[in-house]
Amino acid sequence: MSSPHSLFINGEWVAAADGGTREIRCPADGTLVATVSEGTAVDTERAIAAARAAHDSGVWSAVPAATRGALVIEVARIIRERRDEFAKAETLDTGKRPMESEVDMDDIANCFDYFGRLAGQDSGRVVDAGSPDVASRIVHEPVGVCALITPWNYPLLQAAWKVAPALVAGNTFVLKPSELTPHTSMLLMEALAAAGLPAGVGNLILGAGASAGAPLSEHPDVDMVSFTGGLETGRRIGATAMATVKKVALELGGKNPNVVFADACDTDDRFDAAVDNALNAAFLHSGQVCSAGARLVIEESVKDRFVDELVRRAQAIMVGLPYDAATETGPLISADHRDKVHAYVQRAVEQGATLRCGGEFGSGDLGAGSLDEGWFYLPTVLDNVTRDMDCAHDEAFGPTVTVETFTTEDEAVGIANDTVYGLAGAVWSGDSARAQRVAARLRHGTVWINEFGPYLPQAEWGGFGYSGFGRELGPTGLAEYQEHKHVYENLRPAVTGWFAQR
Ligand code: NAD
Repeated sequence: MSSPHSLFINGEWVAAADGGTREIRCPADGTLVATVSEGTAVDTERAIAAARAAHDSGVWSAVPAATRGALVIEVARIIRERRDEFAKAETLDTGKRPMESEVDMDDIANCFDYFGRLAGQDSGRVVDAGSPDVASRIVHEPVGVCALITPWNYPLLQAAWKVAPALVAGNTFVLKPSELTPHTSMLLMEALAAAGLPAGVGNLILGAGASAGAPLSEHPDVDMVSFTGGLETGRRIGATAMATVKKVALELGGKNPNVVFADACDTDDRFDAAVDNALNAAFLHSGQVCSAGARLVIEESVKDRFVDELVRRAQAIMVGLPYDAATETGPLISADHRDKVHAYVQRAVEQGATLRCGGEFGSGDLGAGSLDEGWFYLPTVLDNVTRDMDCAHDEAFGPTVTVETFTTEDEAVGIANDTVYGLAGAVWSGDSARAQRVAARLRHGTVWINEFGPYLPQAEWGGFGYSGFGRELGPTGLAEYQEHKHVYENLRPAVTGWFAQR
């Protein structure tokens, strides 16, 4: 996958202006995946100029919406056709196991399909102006040049949530994936070109956030920034974008509660389902999931049995190399990130949390294959956590779960909502009325009942509070990339009478 020409600008694969490159290494074993171009601000400005010119020319915005939709649906077809290749690239960059990457690719193709189909249905609105002499309608127009900035945990999925609606709405874009995981974004540009996207409509910049990314929120020719990533980066991008009053959408972190009532565990089957889902919520993709259920909030009466079983199952998770068939979860993305997760766990223990399992690097032959060359961290359960501890509030973004207990419904809601974030959460209860009541009180953008984790392309995704603003997916996820213009026509122009006719 190495290429000295891995920036896609104005329909061509080009090298970074200064010839810079970056080595991409698999986080599972440190092998060199590829050497790709490392762009800087100069390259980003070229990409912005290409996107601006393409937008202003009307080469995409003037294309009928249904035709734009058809192209986006063709991209879905190409992704399905090249699924193995796309999934392999995602696995090598992130270290996640192939099965997870394949599921991601299916979800991504479905996302392109969903927005492609929405294209033909999205035709604005006729407004009743209250007079037969007035024609009033709302028309949907593209915002313009969109900067799409994405993280490393679900690289192509996060890009798809932005690229598909941006294109359907008629925008041009500059995509900047995480510098750690560029490959599937490169493959996406290939697919867009193969589907017939005109030059300059879709552009790809690779490189570090501070150099290649920063101009995207600063540049006056960018009309919108859609960012998914960490809170601090989001704050910086949002503040910078305001200097030129851009439209901004932010999808940031989460500290997501998984609230389990005792009546969700009143049969063995239901107990097993709740424990199994709590395990997935915390440890899928080694917890590097913005909506990870990293806070187990459990009713006191079932806590001991539940947490004992959770710990037993967490200890049995097979951490390992992605291509080992026994592997159930892979490494963290980098040494730096693993150090951060470890510091979070150590601070939790210093502040009084009980370390029930994990809390250490994966090493030697603890998992599937040798873990010594990768950034592995063992599934970690922190018990007896209280509200005053940092671990109850800070996002670890690793394979950790904190355990807190409650005795009343009000207390459960209080703990679940006691976070600056508000991305997602779950309620487990055998009493549907109670589950709905609690769901209604949770200040989180997605609430699952007796489930943890699913999302649908047709259902909005996004956060309350510090988890960001704006929505991805669903009809609102398309509206983010549109201006809604009111066109008001007076069919019988007449004197207004506001000023005397002299
Ligand atoms: P990050 O904030 O470090 O980086 C995200 C992207 O921003 C990368 O492409 C990076 O290069 C770029 N960037 C960094 N500084 C920039 C700048 N000044 N200008 C422009 N771009 C810049 O985040 P990360 O470490 O890649 O991802 C992890 C974070 O993402 C977690 O906090 C997680 O919760 C969050 N996340 C949220 C969602 C969601 O849907 N809400 C989804 C996935 C990840």
